[in-house]
Amino acid sequence: AAASSGGLVAYADSGSDAAVEKPQLPQRKKVVVLGTGWGGTTFLRNLDTRLYDVQVISPRNYFAFTPLLPSVTSGTVEPRSIVEPIRRILEKKGGEIKFWEAECFKIDPQNKRIHCRSDLGTNLEGNGEFLVDYDYLVVAVGARTNTFNTPGVVENCHFLKEVEDAQKIRRSVMDCFEKASLPFLDEEERKKNLHFVVVGGGPTGVEFAASLHDFVTEDLAKLYPSIQHLVKISLIEAADHILTMFDKRITHFAEDKFGRDGIDVKTGYKVVKVAKDAITMQNPATGDISVPYGMAVWSTGIGTRPFIVEFMKQIGQGNRRVLATDEWLRVLECDGVYAVGDCATINQRRVMEDISEIFKVADKDKSGTLTVKEIQDVLDDIYVRYPQVQLYLKSKQMNGIADLVRSAKGDAEKESVELNIEEFKKALSLVDSQVKFLPATAQVASQQGQYLARCFNKMKDAEEHPEGPIRIRGEGRHRFRPFRYRHLGQFAPLGGEQTAAQLPGDWISIGHSSQWLWYSVYATKQISWRTRMLVVSDWTRRFIFGRDSSC
Ligand code: FAD
Ligand code: MG
Ligand code: MG
Ligand code: MG
Ligand code: MG
Repeated sequence: AAASSGGLVAYADSGSDAAVEKPQLPQRKKVVVLGTGWGGTTFLRNLDTRLYDVQVISPRNYFAFTPLLPSVTSGTVEPRSIVEPIRRILEKKGGEIKFWEAECFKIDPQNKRIHCRSDLGTNLEGNGEFLVDYDYLVVAVGARTNTFNTPGVVENCHFLKEVEDAQKIRRSVMDCFEKASLPFLDEEERKKNLHFVVVGGGPTGVEFAASLHDFVTEDLAKLYPSIQHLVKISLIEAADHILTMFDKRITHFAEDKFGRDGIDVKTGYKVVKVAKDAITMQNPATGDISVPYGMAVWSTGIGTRPFIVEFMKQIGQGNRRVLATDEWLRVLECDGVYAVGDCATINQRRVMEDISEIFKVADKDKSGTLTVKEIQDVLDDIYVRYPQVQLYLKSKQMNGIADLVRSAKGDAEKESVELNIEEFKKALSLVDSQVKFLPATAQVASQQGQYLARCFNKMKDAEEHPEGPIRIRGEGRHRFRPFRYRHLGQFAPLGGEQTAAQLPGDWISIGHSSQWLWYSVYATKQISWRTRMLVVSDWTRRFIFGRDSSC
């Protein structure tokens, strides 16, 4: 079923024989999913695939459990244990889902089709390029590593994003140790080879530094007794502290622990150049300093993939840094395209943009003023549509809207409980300061994938109520609530069987007990019983025999 069109091979998914097999579902809409990471895979696992003609495109034919990637760099967990073939996941869904191992390189929203390229061989028809039509496109392609255009990074640093990266890092660590052991090296050269530099003090950089330190002290020190005292691990961070997204207590604990462990934490240093054997960093006090190194891992944040940047220009989002969606995860100004996870960000609607409409809807008796009761009646809808209102009240320790009304009226008029439009505006003028951007985490991506699948499962409703659930801005009742993120907490493994955990309600726990919590959470979160077994047996093997140093 391949027809040629404009030099490309058009994949025509005419359901000529499908119509015979499934007469009860004559015209299912085409859903095309880009990416098999956290967002895409969770979407697929929750989608009712009988309702759609589903096609999945990703250059990777497996899902990878990224939170365990740092463990792969030290051989605590084997790469095979954290990946699950996407075809196995799809097979479990029953029904027919098509998977293509290829990369999307262009989205054409006018014609509702995407351009893809497979690099499985050079003698493919049309250079392996093909077109896929969609009714709905779910973009879940994640992000790329951001080098901030620092010279030499791409050539000389490792990244830690994919399973291959983790495997390469592991090999490179072992190479550095073997190189440093060679007979003809002088002390300086040995030292250089054993200097491991981690750039970026976020959760990934910190966890990698910690797991490298464990690997070195628990396993490699015994195997390389004559050079083990020359090992140095440096963690470089441009901000004043590491783990700034965590509570201060965790940041301080981590910095202290790394200090005791002998990990050199250099905060306030910005890496400006990475040459083949020296890394140059800048600090206002010291100026430029260059240090020799054996291996460097770059982990400073993420950026938008180039083909998404192109897509953004096409749809008038060229001035943004990240692809923007509304709170229903629909890409702004682009019919039929949705985006989840690291590749997108939610553009939270501001209260102040809608303030006059909110006032009109709330003012049921058309008196031109709002009573506390009138505000209270629409408050639940406001909370759903504008979560920042609730966050604002909480941040000001206000118990409810009455407090807000009183604060707008000023102390003198405590008794007066009616607000005109100007007073209403004043009362809510600061709430938008509480708009929060969601972090680029697996937790966010998977919750978004799950939410979107549920919306798709009820898409008929959505078509009848295209504006979503807002009563404030739209007409009538709506079926879907906007996406709402539930933060379940976050871990920061710090090595030596110690982990910091920040759980909802600012509950902080640091130490060995949270390490056990970490083990159990990550065992539970495995995508299949197969990977769960493998991961747990890897951990057990490590406890008994230590980590393997052959590479
Ligand atoms: P990804 O999971 O990156 O998936 C993107 C998918 O798109 C991949 O399958 C990719 O192959 C595919 N793709 C790429 N380009 C194209 C294209 N052109 N066409 C089609 N498909 C394409 N988060 C946590 O919550 N907790 C943690 O402990 C944690 N630890 C982490 C540790 C490391 C080392 C890393 C790198 C990340 C960690 N994260 C963690 C973050 C988490 O992995 C990401 O936020 C999450 O993977 C985002 O999901 P996603 O679906 O948006 O993208
Ligand atoms: Mg994905
Ligand atoms: Mg992933
Ligand atoms: Mg996002
Ligand atoms: Mg009124």
